[in-house]
Amino acid sequence: MTSSENTGTRVALALAGVGKIARDQHIPSCENGSDFVIAAAISRNGKIDSAENFENFDVFLETRQDIRAIALCTPPDVRFAMAKKAIASGLDVLMEKPPAATIGEAQALAELARDAGVTLFATWHSRFANGVEPARQWLLDKTITRIEITWKEDVRRWHPGQAWIWEAGGFGVFDPGINALSILTAIIPGQTIVEKAALSFPANRQQPIAASLTMRSAEGAPIKAEFDWRQEGPQTWDIVVETDQGMLRLAKGGAELYINETLSVEGPDREYSRIYTRFAELVRSRESDVDLQPLRLVADAFLTAERHQVEAFIE
Ligand code: NAP
Repeated sequence: MTSSENTGTRVALALAGVGKIARDQHIPSCENGSDFVIAAAISRNGKIDSAENFENFDVFLETRQDIRAIALCTPPDVRFAMAKKAIASGLDVLMEKPPAATIGEAQALAELARDAGVTLFATWHSRFANGVEPARQWLLDKTITRIEITWKEDVRRWHPGQAWIWEAGGFGVFDPGINALSILTAIIPGQTIVEKAALSFPANRQQPIAASLTMRSAEGAPIKAEFDWRQEGPQTWDIVVETDQGMLRLAKGGAELYINETLSVEGPDREYSRIYTRFAELVRSRESDVDLQPLRLVADAFLTAERHQVEAFIE
């Protein structure tokens, strides 16, 4: 690693976008013994007490040329401009999911990072949930016959006051739904194809509140996904995979793995500590990790979708 700031063995990191996920996960993960220490924050309103705070990205780049890595925790539609500037300044870049607002932006960033010789890590945090890698391994010698994804949560509970999520480029219910797609594409091989989609748009919003996808795996298995933001009470983030040798169920967003309905993997949430461990490995080896398949599935859902108008959403 190349940081010139004296932070012991830890690497100085900047964090842009001090909002919910920065506070819930990135800041605690870096405080609790990751390879990184947050030395600067760039946010128009949010601040990190232990860091130098900037409101303007260009001023940060100009002032803190000693910092060589950055985590972008802003909403997707402003990520491209920041990532492009960071790459051009030679920083290694970690991006929250989804990596950009469009596939074109994400591909452009991957090329720019490659040409600049910096690390670009397009994170998919759900892939680091406890049950996901064991699920991938369990499936390796099995033939998948059917997959069913149910991702139903209460938008008022998980995204209070986040106006951007309903605007163009905000992803709507695909903001959580893409997490399910990131797990799906991590545990099965090849390219998944979207065959049909139906999207439900509240009369007063630009992005869908619910989505229903019919897909097929590279090996021909049918896949159904139901995403819905109107679920009150218990929340559901489940993926069921039926095979020729029994079934698995990933529950709680991948945190728990059941094999034939017997709990086989669980444990404390370590998604973001694993993300920072992986970022450190990528930076050390000067590699990038940019898998755009989850974003491509969302794009294909929008391309193929029937549109339904539903009741206006009032927060
Ligand atoms: P958030 O609470 O709205 O925080 C994002 C922050 O980015 C804002 O607080 C804002 O801080 C800054 N920002 C910069 N430009 C902005 C703009 N044009 N519009 C709005 N905010 C802007 O959002 P979040 O939930 O942390 O989500 C950020 C990213 O993390 C998203 O891509 C999301 O999918 C991902 N993520 C979120 C969660 C979750 O549980 N919320 C989980 C995993 C991943 P300033 O006002 O200080 O500039």
